[in-house]
Amino acid sequence: MKLGAIKSIGWRLGLGVALLAGTCAIVVALYAFQARQYMGSNYTSLVADVVRPQLHTVMFRHALEDLRKRSTDPDVVSRLENFLWRVSQHIDGISFALQASRLSESDYHASLVRLQDVKMRLSEMRQQFDEVIAGASPEKFLHQGQMIENDLAMTYSALSDLVHSEAAKQRIVMERLGRTIAVLVFMILLLVVGLLISLFRLKREHHKVMQLSQRDELTKLGNRRYLMSFAESFCKQSQRSGRPLSLILMDIDHFKYVNDTFGHPAGDQILQIFAKALTDTAREVDVLARIGGEEFCVFMPDTDVDGAMKLAERLRQKVSDLTQQQLGVATSVTVSLGVATAYQNDAIFKHMYARADKALYQAKTHGRNRVEVG
Ligand code: GH3
Ligand code: MG
Ligand code: MG
Repeated sequence: MKLGAIKSIGWRLGLGVALLAGTCAIVVALYAFQARQYMGSNYTSLVADVVRPQLHTVMFRHALEDLRKRSTDPDVVSRLENFLWRVSQHIDGISFALQASRLSESDYHASLVRLQDVKMRLSEMRQQFDEVIAGASPEKFLHQGQMIENDLAMTYSALSDLVHSEAAKQRIVMERLGRTIAVLVFMILLLVVGLLISLFRLKREHHKVMQLSQRDELTKLGNRRYLMSFAESFCKQSQRSGRPLSLILMDIDHFKYVNDTFGHPAGDQILQIFAKALTDTAREVDVLARIGGEEFCVFMPDTDVDGAMKLAERLRQKVSDLTQQQLGVATSVTVSLGVATAYQNDAIFKHMYARADKALYQAKTHGRNRVEVG
């Protein structure tokens, strides 16, 4: 598959994941908006508030039955007194809990009204109870108690249903919210990983492009841009350390003749052979570049003029020693070289280049196939 196709799939995939993550974020926001009624509401305690008094109605009924059987028993009297007070307290407690809850008022309004009505009737019962203690017949009190107990049982049961159903709804919404948040987190992770991979690829591509843009395709040496990328750092380093820095410019002699006589492909082959000889002669740290058609250069850190001259001479000799068989053409090839060395303060690339160029010109004018120092 081509690189372009892979990239376009990568972008589409990234866009897809981003869209999905965006959709999930919107769904979470909608859920959160919908669930705000349930968030922070403690239905567990409300369930306990409502369920507990349901037991009290049963106990209240038993106390009323005991009164019917043993109306003068002081234990029964005190239990009933206690219940009349406690039921009223519970009604207040539940009313407050309902109003403080996040339940919709319309859902519990009817129950609240009924509870208030029961509370009023309970205070009437308290007066009747005093009369029963004073010796009056308990029938009216018992009848009233039964009615209240029935009403309370119904109201508590309705409230219990309401609170349980709200608690169940809360559980469902929270579960859904949890699931959607998990998907959202997963999507965001996918997006981050995708972005990191894209960034890594982009960096690699950028590095590749940079390398290609600084390379000469024919000889595989660096080009002028490659040479310039070292110019400043090598000069600064030399200025700081005081170490010498040398530059050799070289130009193949009568190359036009080679091209015209043996053809352009033969010329290309000679350029490649020359580049190989240059690579074999120079050190690892030297920067080699093809800076023009048949013009090359070596930029040498930590090299004085003697070292540069030696390398230039070695190369000149190597090239002139190349046999016709090695060259693939029925002629010999020579090269002219210009050397410039800088010591500390004069390590300015522009100046070094001008000196080396001038020396190269002299080598040409002095008969070619020679090394001159500028
Ligand atoms: P001199 O000794 O004065 O340097 O003479 P010369 O013939 O080498 O100099 P000139 O600059 O006149 O010719 C350079 C030739 O190099 C001309 C051009 O056709 C050839 N040339 C430049 N680039 C390439 C290339 O990539 N391949 C080939 N085969 N030839 C090239
Ligand atoms: Mg030339
Ligand atoms: Mg030339």
